[in-house]
Amino acid sequence: MRGLAFIFRNRVCPSRGGGYNVRILLAVLVCILALFDGQPLNAGDFWPIDIRKIKERGKIIVTQYSGEQPGFFAFDEVGEYPNQPFYISQTDSLVDKDLTKTIRYQVTDAHLHYVDFLQNSEGVEALLKAMNRAGVGHAMLNGLPLVKKWNAVDPRKPLYYLADDSRTYWYSATDILVAQTVKSLPEADRKKFHPFICGFNPTDRNAIDHVRRMYEWYPDLWEGIGEIQTRHDDLAALTYGEQARANHIALDPVYTFAAKHDLPVCIHSDISSVWVHEPLYLHEMEEAVKKHPKTRFIWTHAGISRRITVPSLVQVLRRMLKIFGSIFPGWFTLCM
Ligand SMILES: [Zn+2]
Repeated sequence: MRGLAFIFRNRVCPSRGGGYNVRILLAVLVCILALFDGQPLNAGDFWPIDIRKIKERGKIIVTQYSGEQPGFFAFDEVGEYPNQPFYISQTDSLVDKDLTKTIRYQVTDAHLHYVDFLQNSEGVEALLKAMNRAGVGHAMLNGLPLVKKWNAVDPRKPLYYLADDSRTYWYSATDILVAQTVKSLPEADRKKFHPFICGFNPTDRNAIDHVRRMYEWYPDLWEGIGEIQTRHDDLAALTYGEQARANHIALDPVYTFAAKHDLPVCIHSDISSVWVHEPLYLHEMEEAVKKHPKTRFIWTHAGISRRITVPSLVQVLRRMLKIFGSIFPGWFTLCM
């Protein structure tokens, strides 16, 4: 399959998850398509031109709007108005919400971090409970490749990357946390998770070595690579070392490995900076996708982050969809 698309070995449907309360990252989304502040648009306006393609695969699409239309929405493809999204929750977070009455299908979460920026988690039992409450039957599962440092001068331990000005550093053991957690589960629960390798520095040309090592150490466990952290507003600014980007030479062998082993690549790649509201860095994502036509990409947050605003994003996404086919971007209110 070419371009920006997302299927876990044909077993999991496209979806994406909502937040956590600082510790656990519950995930509830399905495939989330961007949300944009500022422009009063009708609920259906954001949907990609080829929405039908996605729907034909029998998936639910959930999105979240901020600004004019806060809340989470879904399509009911067998209902009277299959192209009209309906509210599943008029809130800004799906954490601890019982959605079993409003979501009528099994949900798959395509973007779930098991740990926070200190590599802590409330644990897999809490996660499974939260998934059940939200109607999530399957979830992509990854750690976080970055740790927030606690500096000597800081009196309070920072719990989130934005909590203070300390830096974040690359941390590979996050993959071990995920692998051990998934392997510890009974078969029935284990099947619900689709683990991804993410614990590498995407600016290091040795990154592929870590991916290969994980793949060898845990054969038959991994089902994808990512979420690769590249441009990500303040997080990128706080991270030690070279700026990561989707078209970095270090990622070429990773993308090639992913295609060869049928592993979708989940990537965070902002298209702009906090201060500039134009798609400054869109070409990075485009180049990566063009150069690796056999690699499937999951573009989380559709090129934006908490503090990135690009008024032309809808047009950008439509164009990307036209060029690359199906795209399943996500947007995270509580992205970690
Ligand atoms: Zn993420």
